[in-house]
Amino acid sequence: MKTSRSDLAAQIKAQVTTEAAARFYGYPPARNGFLRCPFHQGDRTPSLKLFPDGGWHCFGCGKGGSAIDFVMELFGITFPQACLRLNADFHLGLTSDTPDRKALSEARKKAQEAEERLAREEEEELALLQEHRYWWAVKLAFAPEPGDGDYIHPLYETAVKELPWLAYLLDCMADRRWSRWKN
Ligand SMILES: [Zn+2]
Repeated sequence: MKTSRSDLAAQIKAQVTTEAAARFYGYPPARNGFLRCPFHQGDRTPSLKLFPDGGWHCFGCGKGGSAIDFVMELFGITFPQACLRLNADFHLGLTSDTPDRKALSEARKKAQEAEERLAREEEEELALLQEHRYWWAVKLAFAPEPGDGDYIHPLYETAVKELPWLAYLLDCMADRRWSRWKN
C-alpha cells in the first residue's frame, strides 16, 4: 500500500498525540496537561498546553500544531522528515521510508549549537540584570540629600551615567529575544 504524503500526515496525527510524542522524547507533561516549552528560553512556569485532540499550543512563544509540528521543532527537521521519524519511532508501519540519519544528526548538531548560544545569551542577560540592580542600589544609597548642599557623591554620579546604558543593553536583549520568538 502506497500512502501519499498528506495521507501519511493525517494518519500520523490520528495515531500519535503530541502528549505521546512529548513523553516519548523526554518531555513528560504535568498533570494539568502543561509542559515547560522546549522552544523558548526560561519557561519556568509551564506554558505549553497539550490538548485532548492531540494538538498543542505554547502561550509563551505562540508555537503550536500537531505532534508532527512538535517533532519538527524539537529536532529542527522538515515536515516530511518529522513524519518519517514518528512513523519509525512509534512503529506505525505507514511507510517503509526511513528518516534520513545524516539530516537528523546535522539537525541535532544545529539544535545543540542554538541551545548553547541561547544559554550564553541568558547568562549575559543575567549578568547585565545584576549589574543594573547593583547600580540602581548605589544610586539610591548615594543620592544627594537636602543637607548635602552642592556635594554629589562620585558613586552616585557613576550610577547615573551607567544606568541608562545598562537599561539600553537590556532593552536590546529583550528585542533580540522577542524577534527570536516571532521566528
Ligand atoms: Zn514556547
